[in-house]
Amino acid sequence: MTSDQTTSACLVSTGEEVLRGEIADGNNRFLATTLGEQDFTIEMMMTAGDRREDLLFVMRTALQRADYLFISGGLGPTEDDLTAEVAAELAGVDREFHEASWLAIVALFAKYKLECGDNNRKQAMLPVGATVLANPNGTAPGFTCTFKLDGASKTIVALPGPPRELQPMVHAFLAQRAGGTVAKQDDLFIRFLGLGESDLAERLEPWTKQWGEVSFRQAFPEMEVKLYRPDPARAAALREFAETHLGDYLLDYTSQSTADLFTTFMQQGDAKLAFAESCTGGLAAKTVTDVAGASDYFLGGVVSYANAVKENFLDVASQTLNDEGAVSEQVAQQMAEGALARFNADISLSFTGVAGPGGGTEEKPVGMVWMAKSSAAGTQTKCLHLILDREHIRLGAVYHGLRWLMEDWLRDYRKNKPLT
Ligand code: ATP
Ligand code: MG
Repeated sequence: MTSDQTTSACLVSTGEEVLRGEIADGNNRFLATTLGEQDFTIEMMMTAGDRREDLLFVMRTALQRADYLFISGGLGPTEDDLTAEVAAELAGVDREFHEASWLAIVALFAKYKLECGDNNRKQAMLPVGATVLANPNGTAPGFTCTFKLDGASKTIVALPGPPRELQPMVHAFLAQRAGGTVAKQDDLFIRFLGLGESDLAERLEPWTKQWGEVSFRQAFPEMEVKLYRPDPARAAALREFAETHLGDYLLDYTSQSTADLFTTFMQQGDAKLAFAESCTGGLAAKTVTDVAGASDYFLGGVVSYANAVKENFLDVASQTLNDEGAVSEQVAQQMAEGALARFNADISLSFTGVAGPGGGTEEKPVGMVWMAKSSAAGTQTKCLHLILDREHIRLGAVYHGLRWLMEDWLRDYRKNKPLT
């Protein structure tokens, strides 16, 4: 398949809770972006509830419009899970019991010491001739089935509803389709932290004037710039421009977030980390522990919201708190040094700031956050001025703090990246 040949696809999500807007349709969104990065052109996306006639209507319509239908949900064991049944009807085949899938379901239940009900057998009933897509993260296997509809070859790709099951299945499907290897990633991503979209667009202008537009995606507090299948000269030029003019904001040439990069960074060394948090209320600890592998380097933290806790648990001097106030460079410094000593850590990071909405003054406005990082080599401080609301200020502070800790490492890490 060459890059100028595309395969048409329609997306269908199912389930009453999606139809009623009770849950956001993350699956179609994920499929549209993931398949769009491959050789698929998405023609339409639709949502059907759990009614059989609606499902039949949208699935038939999708297949009249495109060669592929990616449908999510409705593979479960209950009455309202109808995807396999309707797919079989469209394909003009019966369903048959798929022994290997059944054994996988039984094994999964056994692993969690749960009873496997008879209705789970339904999940192993697949259209005759279907190819199974294994589901290592749940009970329902997915499947593909290819058949003729009005003389044209059509393929249904049926996927489970829960995103944590669907997403790895889609990646496995695409890898298999690309010939057993993971599909080559030939888009260029560049992640930035600390610049909004319009600011970033403006700073990129000298480059875009010469080389053409780029796509932006907000992944707060980060911004992602993307070039779809760029030619190597264009990709190299953008990287060079970013390194030269936007180096202070650059994260990496992947869509990995700060937290993922930070884990890689910490795992490459053997330093142990501790946090001293005030305005972030534990968010720094949550952010690093969201990524598996945090136990390799993360010792813990103190959420020292009250001044008494800053004094008693982090040895911040009450005199400093009185003279400078809790949101100050000196208090940030003492918090970081306190955490370093108390946790016996190799590196520590502190946050104290005004997250808002109230509490701001002329001297210390909402969004002002002092950070300090401390190690045997000494302590450094940094003041941030963040915007928007409480949530964005706290998240922004944490991401900036993590980036600050890995600043030097990041620069080298990026240098070794292949061009796209
Ligand atoms: P199950 O075995 O859990 O019933 P299923 O394949 O039948 O799986 P659904 O019953 O349609 O899937 O959905 C199960 C759950 O997956 C939903 O409750 C919801 O949390 C999530 N989900 C389903 N569809 C979507 C969607 N389009 N976007 C995001 N999440 C979804
Ligand atoms: Mg279900």
